Amino acid sequence: MISYLYNILLFIVTIYALQYPVPVSKCPGEDSLRKCLDQYLFKGPVNFRDNYTAYNKDIDFEYDKLIIHFPVAFAHPIDEIDVQNAINCAVKLNIPIVARSGGHSYEGYGMGDKDCYLVVDLVTLNKITVDTVSQTVVVGTGNTLQSVELVLMLELAD
Ligand SMILES: Cc1cc2nc3c(=O)[nH]c(=O)nc-3n(C[C@H](O)[C@H](O)[C@H](O)COP(=O)(O)OP(=O)(O)OC[C@H]3O[C@@H](n4cnc5c(N)ncnc54)[C@H](O)[C@@H]3O)c2cc1C
Repeated sequence: MISYLYNILLFIVTIYALQYPVPVSKCPGEDSLRKCLDQYLFKGPVNFRDNYTAYNKDIDFEYDKLIIHFPVAFAHPIDEIDVQNAINCAVKLNIPIVARSGGHSYEGYGMGDKDCYLVVDLVTLNKITVDTVSQTVVVGTGNTLQSVELVLMLELAD
């Protein structure tokens, strides 16, 4: 009886586990990417898979976790120069690259459309500048509609 229940349990766990993709152990060009980002003096944090906690936190940022691709790393630029350097390295090493802002894509496109993309997470580039004279607003790509709305409401209230 116990072994019967055990088999049923094993079957359920296996079916459940099969729903989740298994990441490749190492992405092509991973070591070269580390070196390249160092050479280009990338300033922000870059979370590769061996930084388990930070990497999983970056995965967890996605709104919809039904479709998960496992990137080679998440790069967190602190300015536009960092963004340029991440792109330079990815192009040089032929590593697919993708921008992520809010992480709301239902299809998980903020992490690419397959494993091993370099994700450039733009959340920290969230500056909003309002020039009421020229009636111009410059919105950093890491903003959500909520943050834009809040800043504009405060500015217009003045
Ligand atoms: C709860 C919820 C409600 C929603 N409501 C609406 C709605 O009312 N109307 C609507 O139209 N959509 C809605 N959406 C869909 C949402 O707007 C889209 O998924 C959109 O892509 C989310 O933008 P993001 O910044 O989160 O993109 P991400 O998920 O970060 O990325 C999505 C795609 O955009 C690309 N991308 C992201 N940032 C940049 C960038 N700076 N430069 C170039 N490419 C970039 C990524 O590479 C990826 O391909 C909703 C989604 C959710 C989860």
